[in-house]
Amino acid sequence: MAHFLTIHQLLEQLRAGELSSREATQACLDRVEKVDDRLNAFISVDAADALAQADAADQSRAAGEDLPMLGVPVAVKDVLAVKDQPLNCASKILGEFNSPYDATVIQKLRAAGAVVFGRLNMDEFAMGSSNENSAFGPARNPWNTDCIPGGSSGGSAVAVAADECIASLGSDTGGSIRQPAALCGCVGLKPTYGRVSRYGLVAFASSLDQVGPFTKDVRDAATLLQVIAGSDDRDSTNVPEPVPDYSAALSGEVKGLRIGLPREYQVQGMDPEVKAATDAAVKQLESLGAEVKEISLPHTEYAIATYYIIATAEASANLARFEGVRYGARLDGADPEEMNRKTRGAGFGEEVKRRIILGTYVLSSGYYDAYYLRAQKVRTLIRQDFLKAFEEVDLIASPTTPTPAFKIGEKVGDPLQMYLSDIYTISCNLAGLCGISVPCGFSEAGLPIGLQLLGKPFGEPDLLRAAHAYEQATDWHTHRPNLD
Ligand code: GLN
Repeated sequence: MAHFLTIHQLLEQLRAGELSSREATQACLDRVEKVDDRLNAFISVDAADALAQADAADQSRAAGEDLPMLGVPVAVKDVLAVKDQPLNCASKILGEFNSPYDATVIQKLRAAGAVVFGRLNMDEFAMGSSNENSAFGPARNPWNTDCIPGGSSGGSAVAVAADECIASLGSDTGGSIRQPAALCGCVGLKPTYGRVSRYGLVAFASSLDQVGPFTKDVRDAATLLQVIAGSDDRDSTNVPEPVPDYSAALSGEVKGLRIGLPREYQVQGMDPEVKAATDAAVKQLESLGAEVKEISLPHTEYAIATYYIIATAEASANLARFEGVRYGARLDGADPEEMNRKTRGAGFGEEVKRRIILGTYVLSSGYYDAYYLRAQKVRTLIRQDFLKAFEEVDLIASPTTPTPAFKIGEKVGDPLQMYLSDIYTISCNLAGLCGISVPCGFSEAGLPIGLQLLGKPFGEPDLLRAAHAYEQATDWHTHRPNLD
């Protein structure tokens, strides 16, 4: 039963000697064995390696060592480099590639004593909102396996929600942590741009990508963020801001905290059940002493278009390196160009190709000024909207997603519809803010709904404080899908 535990519950039992890391790790591996045929959250699991790490953790503990996550099994999205483990980004193009080194966040997890295991399913190169763009087949929502789990970090959300691991890591470029967390009913936190090192995170859109935690409650999100945050000389966009004690923010106190509701987010098309659940969540925060007021983010309507220009432009440059020479799979050709064309043609999926083509187009001479440069200017306006709003409020609340999880296949034929599901999450990345999604209810069909809170740059303590206070007053985070 150890797989059901949170990080803090497991640590308590490990410290009391009631449980070993081997037992906890084995419980997670057994759970994967039992449920993952149906869920497809994991692309692969190296059980022997996980158990060896668990044994080492147990030995350290027996020798008197205690570390912030000693012996806690954490699963990892297939976009982060873990030494000697496969790294595919859920694509075919990397072939049999194994990572030669650990990402900084993995080094930090190891230094904190965690057991790092599994390659979690995702949309190919983190492009998508449903996990349907995976070369390894879609991950499925544990609350209803006909539904998508969200994306791109779908596997990271499913593995936590279905108790296949204690916590996991994902990445968020336009919502890829918060959106699947909301749709699967767990906690997902996107740190401020620059808070967590991107070294060893395969780049999708370098000015937007951040690594962050998926957890079963807010306390765990604080613990895992504490471990992975911090400066890193190997990532030049990492900000050398001191890392505060995030657990200290979990005071349960939100009296006087000012929460803004953006007028522009009351868009048509918001599902009535999502609206009702998130309205109730905001009321709850108000009854705990928060002050709620309306704010305005006037450039909201341009966010999706701006994101899909900037993200595709950066992706087209970042993905140029997968050309059949340096990494993974190669299809031979008569000359280098043909080899390159064949390799990329066969290796990349439809959505990745669509984005490379779009990105190349918006960067091409003659269109650069009209699209890319203009998008950069609008991005600045969007950031200014938020910085202005944050003069009046400490946090901004909204639904994480406009609807609960939709059916697998429902939106694959219409990429634009798919892009619209990012409406509430995307601006946060464009503006470099932090954000969290916490469970705040269920639809009548039994699908989870998430409340999103956005904070100012390096405002993670306020974010965690409010999310934790809300969680203490409700029990949504304790619900579990029935997988027996
Ligand atoms: N759904 C968005 C996209 O497809 C965001 C993905 C992400 O955050 N990685 O680009």
